[in-house]
Amino acid sequence: MENYKTIIEDIYYDLKNVDDIGEVANYIPELAFVSPNSFGVNITTIDKENFGIGDFDQKFSIQSISKILSLTLAYKLEGENLWNRVDVEPSGNPFNSLLQLETNLGKPRNPFINSGAIVICDVLLSHLKNPKVDFLNFCKEIANNTTLNYNEKVAQSEKKSGYRNAALCNFIKSFGNIKNDVDEVLDFYFHICSIEMSCKELSQIALYLADDFYTTHKGNRVLTMSQAKRINAIMITCGFYDESGEFAFKVGLPGKSGVGGGIVAIHPDKYCITVWSPKLNQNGNSYKGMLFLEKFTSKTTSSIF
Ligand code: GLU
Repeated sequence: MENYKTIIEDIYYDLKNVDDIGEVANYIPELAFVSPNSFGVNITTIDKENFGIGDFDQKFSIQSISKILSLTLAYKLEGENLWNRVDVEPSGNPFNSLLQLETNLGKPRNPFINSGAIVICDVLLSHLKNPKVDFLNFCKEIANNTTLNYNEKVAQSEKKSGYRNAALCNFIKSFGNIKNDVDEVLDFYFHICSIEMSCKELSQIALYLADDFYTTHKGNRVLTMSQAKRINAIMITCGFYDESGEFAFKVGLPGKSGVGGGIVAIHPDKYCITVWSPKLNQNGNSYKGMLFLEKFTSKTTSSIF
């Protein structure tokens, strides 16, 4: 940890005052109120050692990073049948694109683009009695953290402006790949995206993807080793919108970003690291977050390749 800590501090202070050419997401109006120069980093090792710097303790909207958690629960509940509903191929298209759904007959290319995550929400609705409560309880157990919650304002703000997600959900339903009521699926999807966590909480909750032997404080396993391997594989191929190749190329870790400016990256058997900086590059990924992680894996020589 001492080695990681010194390197994180050096990179953090190097980047803190770098001119950030990104822009805060504002297509969900409520997200535009974030303080644009926030910058935090946190690492948790599989020995549960933890180090954070900057705004690492401040909660932010994790947005698409929550797609890892919804996928995890759906995979637990549905098993391998899940892949009949959603594919595991990179899309090479924007995260909210409708294009491939037409030719792929309503089967989304992967669970991390919006269409795929919407189908995952539909799968969860079919399994859970009280979907919002049950999903949050699942997250709380993995993280051993009772403070996790949805941000109702963000969820409602997205509901009002989420025309494209509504189009995706309706379009998929027309192919029969949404089983529940469209409004219920979308409401659940918007709530899952609105969950807030700090970098510290995020690096703790995602540790089950780094640690093959992870059990929750109640003694439950989150995933089998093979399931965790598969989710890591989808993260490295599909976790960064149109920039997943670039992230693998420059950083070399499985990860997932969100339009709230967060990034979580996993080094299997070593650590989970998170960065939050809300200004996004042209591909919707945190500008400083990408730079930070590229420098971090280079200086620690700790990518998976
Ligand atoms: N709630 C956002 C949307 O559906 C999530 C986008 C993201 O973080 O990639 O547009």
